[in-house]
Amino acid sequence: MTTENAASEAFERIDAEAVNSATKRQPLYAARKKIFPKRASGQFRRFKWLIMAITLGIYYLTPWIRWDRGPYAPDQAVLIDLANRRFYFLFIEIWPQEFFYVAGLLVMAGIGLFLITSTVGRAWCGYTCPQTVWVDLFLVVERAIEGDRNARMKLDGAPWSLGKLSKRVSKHAIWLLIAVATGGAWVFYFADAPSLFVEIFTGKAAAVAYITIGVLTATTYVLGGLMREQVCTYMCPWPRIQAAMLDENSLTVTYNDWRGEPRSRHAKKAAAAGVSVGDCVDCNACVAVCPMGIDIRDGQQLECITCALCIDACDAVMDKLGRERGLISYATLSDYNANMALATAGSGSIDPARVREASGKLSGAVAHFHWRKIFRPRTFVYFGAWSLVGLAMLYALLTRDRLEVNVLHDRNPQYVLLSDGSVRNGYTVKLLNMIPEPRVIFLSLEGLPGATMQAVGIDQPEGRSLAIPVEPDRLREVRIYVRQPAELSHRGNERFNFVVEDKASFERDVYHAKFDTPEGSR
Ligand code: SF4
Ligand code: SF4
Repeated sequence: MTTENAASEAFERIDAEAVNSATKRQPLYAARKKIFPKRASGQFRRFKWLIMAITLGIYYLTPWIRWDRGPYAPDQAVLIDLANRRFYFLFIEIWPQEFFYVAGLLVMAGIGLFLITSTVGRAWCGYTCPQTVWVDLFLVVERAIEGDRNARMKLDGAPWSLGKLSKRVSKHAIWLLIAVATGGAWVFYFADAPSLFVEIFTGKAAAVAYITIGVLTATTYVLGGLMREQVCTYMCPWPRIQAAMLDENSLTVTYNDWRGEPRSRHAKKAAAAGVSVGDCVDCNACVAVCPMGIDIRDGQQLECITCALCIDACDAVMDKLGRERGLISYATLSDYNANMALATAGSGSIDPARVREASGKLSGAVAHFHWRKIFRPRTFVYFGAWSLVGLAMLYALLTRDRLEVNVLHDRNPQYVLLSDGSVRNGYTVKLLNMIPEPRVIFLSLEGLPGATMQAVGIDQPEGRSLAIPVEPDRLREVRIYVRQPAELSHRGNERFNFVVEDKASFERDVYHAKFDTPEGSR
């Protein structure tokens, strides 16, 4: 027995059929066929475990990270404070009028998805989409309780017994626990997590918290545990959108039929008979591990989330056969077409011998992906747009004001003529202290010679400047009366400035206002 012959008997041939194979395409709304994905192992599976641990860790743990913002602001690192209309992210505090930062982040996320899709295809779907991550997590539980593919299929087909019932109850109970934890983690982003945790378990939390947890528990359990791949196939619009973003240089998971076909389950016999067969031994390992239940050998399909588990499965088979890895691989359409042209040599039929040298190694003429293909005009445009939005947001963030003044001029009456002949205008001055510290804001007049002002409810002498205390993170409205003496008010309407300053931090803001007089109204 040759090494290859010995190796070729070392792999397992799996009885697996794609749920919607090219030869037996079903109508779009056919009844669901159950999928029992086999456990895969290999570099992509390890990478997916890593991504899964990171994404789940971020989601569940982030609300528990503390951040000291002093005594006047919450000490939760990430908090959406709906009651006070604030969003806290580490050292950044966003006010409602600064919502454009959130909009900018969404724009960046959108452009980032375009960039990722045009380079590495549906990496979002295969690795980081919440649906993929939670389905993976639910599958871990399912495998731990019911076993791998064969055991699960056997259990599914077995009549109900105490053993089957206990396994099913255990699985669904743990799924529900995960779903509750997922819904629970979400509400912690909207309130102080440790306090809310206690309130939830003592029945003191607001009804909306319990309703949110209930809704998210149900959606996580149903979408991640019960519907699984159907969410991607039938509900998600992304597979359709991303099809428009791929081009001939985008990476996708590809079955390289130029070296795999004609597939043969009897490679040894074919070789002995001098028949040229491809590398695919039709073992179905790639079909068995696929969480979408498809056969990548049928070609590119919308159902494929490019999770690359079929690459791991096939690489393991190629290792056992002593052949080069990569019968299924990440490849671009342009490389695939070049290799297909090599394998068919214009004849229309694949001869795998054409892509191999006499020694049996893959020919040097075979095209392989090169990283420089990522750098092309389209990706430069996406990256440029993404960077521009990011830099604009960073600049706006670093230079934004934390002290603001807004003024409303009384319209009725526009002015009041006082008994001594002086003219008075009324204003509502809004002082915004956007830091979590109390501070004294100095409001002063700039221009309008001879004018003085007085604040209602603030016990300070009439003058050109007032010191107004403002609470942390608050807006304070003050009624201000500005008075101009009679000898100066004949000059007509005048422009002047309300200036606010924090003398400790040197922050300053100016509002351009107008002073109305009887002269100006004539
Ligand atoms: S065909 Fe391969 S890459 Fe696509 S979903 Fe199935 S296992 Fe993942
Ligand atoms: S592509 Fe690879 S894993 Fe799939 S059937 Fe062929 S040899 Fe097996």
